[in-house]
Amino acid sequence: MTLRNDQSKKHFAEAKDIFPGGVNSPVRAFGSVGGQPLFIESAKGPYVYDEDGNQYIDYVNSWGPAIVGHAHPEVIAAVSEQMQKGFSFGAPTRLETELATLVKQLVPSMEMMRFVSSGTEACMSVLRLARGYTGRDKIIKFSGCYHGHADMLLVQAGSGVATLGIPGSPGVPQGATKDTLVAPYNNLNAVRELISQAQDQVAAVILEPIAGNANFIRPTEAFLKGLRELCSEHNILLIFDEVMTGFRVHPNSAQGLYGIKPDLSTFGKVMGGGMPLGAYGGRRDIMERIAPTGPVYQAGTLSGNPLAVMCGLKTLELLNGESFSYSGLADATRSLVEGLSSAAADEGHTFSADSEGGMFGFAFAKAMPTNFEEAQSADIPSFNRFFQGMLSQGVYLAPSAFEAGFVTMAHSNDVIEETIAKAKTVFREMKH
Ligand SMILES: *Cc1c(COP(=O)(O)O)cnc(C)c1O
Repeated sequence: MTLRNDQSKKHFAEAKDIFPGGVNSPVRAFGSVGGQPLFIESAKGPYVYDEDGNQYIDYVNSWGPAIVGHAHPEVIAAVSEQMQKGFSFGAPTRLETELATLVKQLVPSMEMMRFVSSGTEACMSVLRLARGYTGRDKIIKFSGCYHGHADMLLVQAGSGVATLGIPGSPGVPQGATKDTLVAPYNNLNAVRELISQAQDQVAAVILEPIAGNANFIRPTEAFLKGLRELCSEHNILLIFDEVMTGFRVHPNSAQGLYGIKPDLSTFGKVMGGGMPLGAYGGRRDIMERIAPTGPVYQAGTLSGNPLAVMCGLKTLELLNGESFSYSGLADATRSLVEGLSSAAADEGHTFSADSEGGMFGFAFAKAMPTNFEEAQSADIPSFNRFFQGMLSQGVYLAPSAFEAGFVTMAHSNDVIEETIAKAKTVFREMKH
């Protein structure tokens, strides 16, 4: 079965003439899986609808934000009402305090925070603050972790070995990344080594507390605990980038799940419920260094935009209300990955999968990766065939083997069962 895609084809041809690659964010172009990106017309609950009128069960969910399902009526009502009052004021609103209070209640390490408009902005700002606060320049990140596209963070790791940063994109000057040190995920010794070489010049260690931009990589508990201890011992700030994991893997985010308190954190995606919103925050004594109380400058014309804040507030309220249960979401996601795994095994494929809360990953590999190098050694051509097979069955997975997937509270048991049945068909077809 191949779904009609005449309209998507036509729109993509037009878009390619005016946007590089036809898109406004690279992975949307289907570059790694091949074929034709879908042009989406609308979305509702667990489904997206393309310009050809096809319905797909959606496991991208805007790359995570749509956790209550697309176009939830209560979110639409709240944002519509707010919209009548105007789009943006460039002045404080009480909504911002309301959302921040809820965020802090759920994530107590967020003693103070600042709202921004994207995860990228949150991560670049939090690192400026970490450097400003400590008076040190070096930062440590992990290969395979994505923290947005700020110059200093676009660093590729050299073959899984802890190395000095080299720019991962033309246009990033050497100077911007010379203080970015890279270690393999889950490798505490590599971090220890970098810290000792850097001689008290490390401002911060930043990581995704579950890495979701290199498939789905779990931290070991010893790794997270060890990082916390190392950072405290050397007066280095520990930063959890929870842009993806925040309110997605656990009501109290990954730091609540693992019981580790970072000094600073970043949020985005779910926190904005699908509108452009991010946040960084943490220890009060550090956050007070931000302008206007402190000298570290950071600003934004649309920061804390009332429509975005209302969308995030309503989404977080729904997540913590009567009608939603995280354990229900976690069960649905677990039954999806278990169903996929057993369907793959029935058809003789080497396949692994894992999930936490409403986030999951899978790989054509004997085990789930524990670092980026392992993620790269999975069978990517099989992933691409599976992706295309699922798409033609009406299931929209992330168009890359290196992205996590997302389930929403609108994905009922029936939707999950339907997905597994379709996967079984695709796994069978893949043998031929
Ligand atoms: C998506 C993501 C970002 C970047 O957020 P944008 O809103 O795309 O700028 C940063 N960190 C992590 C962990 C992410 O998943």
